[in-house]
Amino acid sequence: MTSATDDPADPGRRSAAIVRAWLLDWAAAVAERRTWLGDLDAAIGDGDHGINLDRGLAAVAADLRDADQGATTAGETLAAAGRRMMGVVGGASGALYGRALVRAGEALSGSPDPATLPEVVLAAAIDAIASLGKALPGDKTMLDALVPALGALRTGPEGEPPAHACMRAAAAAGAGADATVPLVARKGRASYLGERSVGHRDPGAASSALLVQCLARAYARG
Ligand code: ADP
Ligand code: MG
Repeated sequence: MTSATDDPADPGRRSAAIVRAWLLDWAAAVAERRTWLGDLDAAIGDGDHGINLDRGLAAVAADLRDADQGATTAGETLAAAGRRMMGVVGGASGALYGRALVRAGEALSGSPDPATLPEVVLAAAIDAIASLGKALPGDKTMLDALVPALGALRTGPEGEPPAHACMRAAAAAGAGADATVPLVARKGRASYLGERSVGHRDPGAASSALLVQCLARAYARG
């Protein structure tokens, strides 16, 4: 395991602290909205999305609380969270978020710069979900929140502070999740409903929008 330095101003150490805060906040946000996420999934799937994700993220949060804070890199923290999700979460979302977090962690260098971390992490997560799920934007999945978020990060003004960029990304993810309502699901259980999936928000896009909102909060808190 690679250790971060003891210097609080070290970019690698700041990145590790941001990732830790981000994952803990996502776990709390999903726990709070577990019933809502389940209800979204009940409308077009099997109703387990909130329970699935909450179980996995509660295990991730417990690991983070047990771990020696500051002893692990951002990349290893993300990859360990992904491995935990794969082990604990059933259903499509466990495999998809698990692979996404593992790949995001692998994409980070040992001492990543907090300014570029959101773009590196979201790009790797999107690649992982798209290749494992064989999904494209517009298929009414998690990608419909994550892809607009990455687009927002990539189109920001030169020199924009990362906290601002992440706030725009969170807004884009939320709008992307809203925009899944009129779509026909083409992947996962919801695709079995065909046209009857129209009129419902995709639960995975909703939990992905929360993920990006929590990332923005981690940056806003510095
Ligand atoms: P399951 O469908 O196995 O019950 P969940 O309910 O936990 O799993 O997660 C459902 C969410 O997973 C969907 O709302 C969608 O966003 C996402 N999803 C399902 N299949 C795919 C896929 N092939 N590619 C991308 N995302 C998918
Ligand atoms: Mg489900």
